[in-house]
Amino acid sequence: MSELVFFSGTMDCGKSTLALQIGHNRSARGLQGVIFTRDDRAGEGKLSSRLGLVTEAVEATEGMDLYGYLVDQLSKGGKVDYVIVDEAQFLAPDQIDQLARVVDDLGLDVFAFGITTDFRTKLFPGSQRLIELADRIEALQVEALCWCGARATHNARTVGGEMVVEGAQVVVGDVNRPVEEVGYEVLCRRHHLRRMTSASAHAGALSPDVLPVTSA
Ligand SMILES: [Zn+2]
Repeated sequence: MSELVFFSGTMDCGKSTLALQIGHNRSARGLQGVIFTRDDRAGEGKLSSRLGLVTEAVEATEGMDLYGYLVDQLSKGGKVDYVIVDEAQFLAPDQIDQLARVVDDLGLDVFAFGITTDFRTKLFPGSQRLIELADRIEALQVEALCWCGARATHNARTVGGEMVVEGAQVVVGDVNRPVEEVGYEVLCRRHHLRRMTSASAHAGALSPDVLPVTSA
């Protein structure tokens, strides 16, 4: 039975690396896949991981019919054994419905990778639809850690190192960008709710008002 699997996690939890690994393992067995991505950090039509691996991918543009694309490939004699979707949170809900049809009508496995919630802790529409439709959800809890050392479960958007909670849901940035720009940082829930990034925690630690009280 083919299935729609949603691998969900925070930014920086190794999703793209796992996506590339799944692709690699299957191609080593002679299987051929189609990789869709959207707004990858390496540019249009690329799937890249933070570890430096990059592969060609099909850019899933706004309004693109993913089911139609695959039917078209198959009808032209193309070989498609499975489908990988990275940055699936950026897809529209109806594109997720198309992926479910790929599983049910074309009999292909679809492995979708995405961030569940945005910088305001709200579900991305694409991820919400995946949670609603997926046969299986795998929560990736790979070594992404908050600056405090706790497991990072939430994505914060930062401007100049300060956490912001207003703005458009999608502003493509990267956790490794310089702090002057819009960036992202993964935090534990406690520090996300307190809006404490590593930069603000560091500034706070240097401030005399929060020095530990020494008893006489
Ligand atoms: Zn923390």
